[in-house]
Amino acid sequence: MNVLVVGGAGYIGSHCVRQLQAAGHHPVVLDNLVYGHRAAVADDVTFYQEDLGNRPAVTKILTEEKIDIVMHFAAFINVGESVHAPLKYYANNVGNTIQLFLAMTDAGVNKFVFSSTCATYGVPDTLPLVEDLPQSPINPYGSTKLHVEHILQDLARSGAISSAVFRYFNASGAADDGSIGEDHTPETHLIPLAIDAATGKRGALKIFGVNYPTPDGTCLRDYIHVDDISRAHIAVFDQLEEPNKFIHYNLGTGKPTSVREILDAVEKVTGLPVPAEEAPRRAGDPPSLYADNTKARTELGWEPQHMDIESTIATAWKWHQSHPDGFADPKD
Ligand code: UDP
Repeated sequence: MNVLVVGGAGYIGSHCVRQLQAAGHHPVVLDNLVYGHRAAVADDVTFYQEDLGNRPAVTKILTEEKIDIVMHFAAFINVGESVHAPLKYYANNVGNTIQLFLAMTDAGVNKFVFSSTCATYGVPDTLPLVEDLPQSPINPYGSTKLHVEHILQDLARSGAISSAVFRYFNASGAADDGSIGEDHTPETHLIPLAIDAATGKRGALKIFGVNYPTPDGTCLRDYIHVDDISRAHIAVFDQLEEPNKFIHYNLGTGKPTSVREILDAVEKVTGLPVPAEEAPRRAGDPPSLYADNTKARTELGWEPQHMDIESTIATAWKWHQSHPDGFADPKD
């Protein structure tokens, strides 16, 4: 399959490009490099530096590259920023995504894989999270993703685009060979911040909230390896052959891990202490989020290969050791 990976120079997109190549597909990357890294994409992959909202340019690429399927990872992801600058989020995550859909219909491309999030569920009443629980996001970031899910449902009904939606839990880790990994500016995610605290690159890790209703008082999350996420995106291709299709899957390991357990695992993997201090809760953090991944397992034949948090952190550590300054591209 010829696959346009929108946001293919970002964290999850770049790992998906690698997995697509490994599975014998032909990825083409479109990324405006505002947050993505050119170095995250190998030289043998066709690369377009372009905005996903540029309908004529994207239509041309879709046509000339004979694209069969579009995967879309190019979203703004900072929950806190989305609260303060909601229009920035709606303009990109929804507005530009509509331009992408228009380009797809112009070019006659009708298969789509979407990067959604467990943040669309808000604060769930029951755990683990199954796909048909009500979706009521508690921040604009989650709302933008849910808006796109609704648009995709309508596009499926109309027959314009068949789609698969993946609601990720906490994407973590890095390619097994340590060649690509997580490099966000600013970095807000727990595992890279804990590694930076361990190596002394940053000060003590702040534990956001220690009195949650969880076994050790810190938040529970479901840390799923980025390559496991990527593999699910490819396993879903057959489903998209059907017209009027709209399917959605949770992507998580199903295992809850607390913030303190992450810090212990980082210490074990790196052999370094992680300086940490207790801090107030971070606004908008649900106490516990972890997936029921039965649907993805049974319908896609997908199995996460990194079930052990230490194995996931070991890949992040390998990436960090070989790239202590991330991709160190010129804009950094
Ligand atoms: N967290 C923390 N300190 C940090 C960053 C994150 O205690 O410096 C906690 C955060 O409150 C959440 C968990 O770690 O409970 C995972 O946060 P992250 O930002 O990595 O992902 P999220 O679950 O928000 O998508």
